Amino acid sequence: MPTEFRNEPFTDFSKEENAQAMRAALEKVSGELGGEYPLVIGGERIKTGDTLDSINPANRTQIVGKFHKATKELASKAVETAAEAFKTWRNVPAAERAQLIFRVAELMRTRKHEFSAWMIYEVAKTWPEADGDTAEAIDFLEFYGREMLRYAGDQPLVKLQGEDNRLDYIPLGVGAVIPPWNFPCAIMAGMTAAAIATGNTVVLKPSSDAPAIAYKFFELLEEAGLPPGVVNFMTGSGAEVGDVVVDHPQTRFVAFTGSMEVGLRINERAAKKQPGQLWIKRVVAEMGGKDAIVVADDADLDEAATGIVQSAFGYQGQKCSACSRAIIDARIYDPMVEKIAERTAKIKLGDPTDNGNNMSAVINEKAFKSINGYIEKGKAEGGRVVAGGGSDGERGFFIEPTVIADVKAGSTIEQEEIFGPVLAVIKADDYDDALRIANDTQFGLTGAVYSADEAKLDRARNEFHVGNLYLNRKCTGALVGVHPFGGFNMSGTDSKAGGRDYLLLFMQAKLSSEKVGATSKRAEAGTAS
Ligand code: NAD
Repeated sequence: MPTEFRNEPFTDFSKEENAQAMRAALEKVSGELGGEYPLVIGGERIKTGDTLDSINPANRTQIVGKFHKATKELASKAVETAAEAFKTWRNVPAAERAQLIFRVAELMRTRKHEFSAWMIYEVAKTWPEADGDTAEAIDFLEFYGREMLRYAGDQPLVKLQGEDNRLDYIPLGVGAVIPPWNFPCAIMAGMTAAAIATGNTVVLKPSSDAPAIAYKFFELLEEAGLPPGVVNFMTGSGAEVGDVVVDHPQTRFVAFTGSMEVGLRINERAAKKQPGQLWIKRVVAEMGGKDAIVVADDADLDEAATGIVQSAFGYQGQKCSACSRAIIDARIYDPMVEKIAERTAKIKLGDPTDNGNNMSAVINEKAFKSINGYIEKGKAEGGRVVAGGGSDGERGFFIEPTVIADVKAGSTIEQEEIFGPVLAVIKADDYDDALRIANDTQFGLTGAVYSADEAKLDRARNEFHVGNLYLNRKCTGALVGVHPFGGFNMSGTDSKAGGRDYLLLFMQAKLSSEKVGATSKRAEAGTAS
């Protein structure tokens, strides 16, 4: 049995040996930038000649990697290859599958800084943000490996004399694993590991903004001994080949994390029975958020301001859990706006390879334009920019951490997910009003409340409708096993990644009942079903 699960510690970069190790990893990875990567289907490396470039958002002319794009035919072939591999992988004992996942975790641990360095170049994460992402990936591997062993053990059933009853969790089949770019290691590795630990096979279609990290992970799987075809690596346009994989009749489930728009599209398409399809496809869709931190009039204002700024601007506000709304009781509104603006002004924006910077570029040009559009919209709708507001798209996609005060509840930037470094500050009449505003969006992912009053916190527990609620702490930074993560309403299917229920989404329970020894009267009397 493996030891009890423990979260992977974050690296302390104030220690010179750790900083040195990261600098060495950055140098190594910088020498590998610009490489060309194939699709891998059934272990076969395939080049289509039609490539997409993954670029460094902080240095837009730097190509991180060139990735061959799948055609529709290859996307279908990937599903069919995974279906073939399922015939054998489903019979590999759970303990062996778990061991493989543990080996992958160990390999990643030994190359931790290298994985982080890829993220620093490919998605402009700062050192601590990249380190957190790699640590979370290792956590998912370690956690799901152990979870599989738990589910493979005896499941408690009511005893009935004369029968040997068992409940076994069996895999579903072929899964399309479709991750976002914002946790390109953790979420990608987590969804893939959950699928294969439970005995499924996978078509992994990484985000076109972060394929290099996914390829590096795929190589670890191969190195750890994963048989060909169990995971098939397929890059290409989400809209084009994504639809093919989702629609394919041999696809049994889709594990998706990304925007609401794409999640809903997948859910709708997956619901349609295709010719030859034998099952109702299962869709796990974790989607966007419009997360709020409520500050009551009795809160510790300094703590609240620090928590808000950290949650709003960590990884440029590009976390689904990021605080994009600070909802402040009118009695403390002015000092809070001042404290938030002060702390925001201290954030250093720049190249993520330099550990002196605490924020960097947003992911791509489309995001750069869309986020700037939201800043303009916020101003046009009466908002007052109290910090940041500027941007520079010359070298990379840099947008200053921006705080817009006096945002009206119900206005565009209070309602829509911006997914960038923009915080809307909203004045609430009182605590009742603040909770009402907090709940008044279509999302329900994370939220936080700062208050010294236990009764107010209890009300939030009861009334603040989010999957992950934090009290007197920031609303980002969920830890695997500690804070199972997933949202309500249009934030998704509340799959609670990193929790004890998660693997159930990748399996189905089979009951077998064998008559043994003397016949049981109760068994013969018949039951309802
Ligand atoms: P996105 O929806 O644009 O893309 C997600 C993935 O879907 C990518 O791999 C993309 O290529 C693919 N895709 C696009 N069109 C597709 C189609 N038609 N069929 C199949 N796949 C398709 O999201 P993104 O920009 O990569 O990520 C940001 C979003 O993800 C934000 O909305 C954020 O809130 C959300 N997110 C949610 C969570 C969560 O746990 N709830 C975690 C991280 C990110």
